[in-house]
Amino acid sequence: MNKRIWLSSPHMGGTEQSYINQAFEENWIAPLGPNVNGFEADLKKYTGVNSCTALTSGTAAIHLGLIQLGVKKGDEVLCSTFTFVATVNPIIYQDATPIFVDSEEDTWNMCPKQLEIAIKDRIAKGTKPKAIIVVHLYGMPSKMNEIMEISKKYEIPVLEDAAEALGSTYEGKAMGTIGDIGIYSFNGNKIITTSGGGAIVSNKEEYCQDSLFLATQARDAAPHYQHSRIGYNYRMSNITAGIGRGQMEILDKHISLRRRNHDFYEKELSGIENIKFLKEPEGMYSNRWLSCILTDSFETREKIRIALEAKNIESRPLWKPMHMQPVFINSEKYLNGVSEDLFKKGLCLPSGSNLEIDDLELIVKVIKENI
Ligand SMILES: *Cc1c(COP(=O)(O)O)cnc(C)c1O
Repeated sequence: MNKRIWLSSPHMGGTEQSYINQAFEENWIAPLGPNVNGFEADLKKYTGVNSCTALTSGTAAIHLGLIQLGVKKGDEVLCSTFTFVATVNPIIYQDATPIFVDSEEDTWNMCPKQLEIAIKDRIAKGTKPKAIIVVHLYGMPSKMNEIMEISKKYEIPVLEDAAEALGSTYEGKAMGTIGDIGIYSFNGNKIITTSGGGAIVSNKEEYCQDSLFLATQARDAAPHYQHSRIGYNYRMSNITAGIGRGQMEILDKHISLRRRNHDFYEKELSGIENIKFLKEPEGMYSNRWLSCILTDSFETREKIRIALEAKNIESRPLWKPMHMQPVFINSEKYLNGVSEDLFKKGLCLPSGSNLEIDDLELIVKVIKENI
């Protein structure tokens, strides 16, 4: 049996460990230090954003982002239904209510039309939503011009969940830097990893500054320990930030390798009638974090998935929409059928920047034999 081919596994560039060694040499074994500052500076330079605070996870970043946008008990937050559960859980941490919005077919991300329908309906029912969380899934940018126009029209701020979209751009702007607040994740399977970590970014410096304050237990300026607000222990460690600094050096190279994977699959499989690919719409650049295919039915999708698994190749159905999850089954939702269809027919293929051409050829061969 061949070695297991993973969906998306960590891929080190080589310099990560030297940043960690330096932290050991200088005894910066703490949730602060030169690597944390350096990693934040790298992220700011790369994305062009004004300010950045490195945190323990993308989930923590979303939580602090919602606090910055004033989301409190009883508030409603509009959120892409087609996403990973970590987008939604922080809404619940704030005792707020998620309202799910369906996808559109060009990007698979939040449908601007459904978003406006949802806003109008919520306002008619007497509750104006407090924030919008838009997710750039699999690295594909959302239709940000339309979404920001709606955000301005109704004066509802946007938090961009760019956990999967570091390095993707929309009309030249980095995902995460277009809305009021953006977040990134550096979990083990993301485009770059710190083994676990996240960041909040914004062009409004006060959002990141206040997030830093809350992430470090909300200590008031005093010689003793004094607290006027509830804080969290969410700050990134100087060790993990060292991995991040090394990873930033090879981010662009890894994006080009992930895009190579997608191009390879598309070239080899696009002749097959019942397999479709998500195209990059005009003005959008995707990091192609995961390469996905859309088949013609649940049965075809499962046949391919099971055949790949039999060859020790990991693949996974597209995200199960949040409005279909048992934990959110009673939530309000604005649907058009797109995300349910994607979940039924879609499959994520192995997409790591560390895949070999032989791996890609084997994957394509198994798919062709089982279609
Ligand atoms: C990974 C991910 C998160 C959460 O990030 P963590 O660092 O794992 O907490 C949030 N949203 C999306 C869309 C993700 O893929």
